[in-house]
Amino acid sequence: MLKAILFDLDNTLLNFSGFKRETALAAAKAMKQAGVPLTEKELYDRIFKIYNEKGIEYQRTFGDVLYGLELDQHHIERARQAAIIAYTKKKYECIRPRPKVIQILSSLKRKYKLGIVTDAPREKAWQRLILSGLDAFFYPVVTYNDTLEHKPSIKPFELALILLKVKPGDVLFVGDNPERDILGAKKAGLHTCLAKYGCIDYTEEMDLADYKISKFENLAKIIEEIEGG
Ligand SMILES: [Mg+2]
Repeated sequence: MLKAILFDLDNTLLNFSGFKRETALAAAKAMKQAGVPLTEKELYDRIFKIYNEKGIEYQRTFGDVLYGLELDQHHIERARQAAIIAYTKKKYECIRPRPKVIQILSSLKRKYKLGIVTDAPREKAWQRLILSGLDAFFYPVVTYNDTLEHKPSIKPFELALILLKVKPGDVLFVGDNPERDILGAKKAGLHTCLAKYGCIDYTEEMDLADYKISKFENLAKIIEEIEGG
């Protein structure tokens, strides 16, 4: 019998990729307006180049974007702070749960324990949960800081199981990344469901999930299936 459902956060419950694109566009525009002698497109591309090299959670992106340009400290700081403010404003505006997430979680919460296992840093994970109005649904919220290991390590999954006092076979994990979420949850012995709608570059070969959903609301049916079989 299923007792708990654990979720990945970024791209599973939130449209994280869209959020990173929107905030990068806003930051690029702000730096251009602050006098940086590059086009918005060049600035946007620089932001994503840094994300690709240093990770999507990298915290000094705009300083790195401006590094090496022929600008004095006055103009660099103006552009950097303009980018940070534009990014932050856009973040407050565009972090929203995916369609039907609140409705489905509200109904699941009546029957199951719900938790999060995310690779995001603790502060960022909580900011995203609060901004999207999802912060009251989950215990525990296991973040990168709790085990200092990223999925597919089984450590973050095991920590969630300990905190919930449940057995792996009584838990379903839902995540969008086949190589991190699904592989890790499988190794830890959980049932797995791929959130295919959030999965970039999906291929069938890398899909080892027990179940998959093409939209969040289909989760209810998967749970029925697990409970029935
Ligand atoms: Mg994800």
